Amino acid sequence: MAAAPTVLIMGPPGAGKGTQAAHLVVAYDLAHLSTGDLLRAAVAAGTDAGQAAQRYMDAGDLVPDEVIVAMLVDAVRALPSERGLLLDGFPRTRAQAETLEAALAELDRGVDVVLDIRVPDDVIIERLSGRWICRTCQTPYNVNTRPPKTPGTCDLDGGELFQRSDDTSDAVATRLEVYRTQTEPVAAFYEQRGCLVRIDGNHPADDVRGALDEAIGAVRA
Ligand code: AMP
Repeated sequence: MAAAPTVLIMGPPGAGKGTQAAHLVVAYDLAHLSTGDLLRAAVAAGTDAGQAAQRYMDAGDLVPDEVIVAMLVDAVRALPSERGLLLDGFPRTRAQAETLEAALAELDRGVDVVLDIRVPDDVIIERLSGRWICRTCQTPYNVNTRPPKTPGTCDLDGGELFQRSDDTSDAVATRLEVYRTQTEPVAAFYEQRGCLVRIDGNHPADDVRGALDEAIGAVRA
């Protein structure tokens, strides 16, 4: 694998991308770029991009390319060339994958490995309907399977827990449909390029983490 690898993590909403990304950035010293996080920050800051993005996000639809692509490409260009990168939530369409390929090529980079976490729809729906996130440190909880010690409060820093506005059942259904129709073809794109690794995400987070480490180890060997 390159000295400054570019790693992609993909999978349907609720696959555990955020949890696993938090591990990968520390374990492999990667800069973390999450388009969902970039957009949520833009919404919170009330920027033009944030205002344009919000209604799509709340409905579970993809934000138009003119809002997100430049934001992501600028963030990639701003990285020091010796820094490894973890991209999370981008690309979500084949067109975005092609744009990313061109932007990375300009920087003498390419995608080294794509970690595609797979989880059945019924598990995703259960995970997202119970998901609460710490407003301060972003740690996710699940009221059914991993509840906080005190309801509504983060175990780690006492922060307030909140539910994402797109974790409602209608928005989740749309996000799953968008994933199947628009984002799954991205996996096929990287499969053709020989850098896709499928990971079974229907296991406890520690086991999934082990599978991801193994996949990265195999690319590095
Ligand atoms: P995430 O946190 O990755 O689940 O993203 C939350 C929402 O942000 C998605 O449901 C989309 O509305 C929007 N979003 C994130 N990344 C992208 C992208 N690459 N293209 C279009 N919309 C995106």
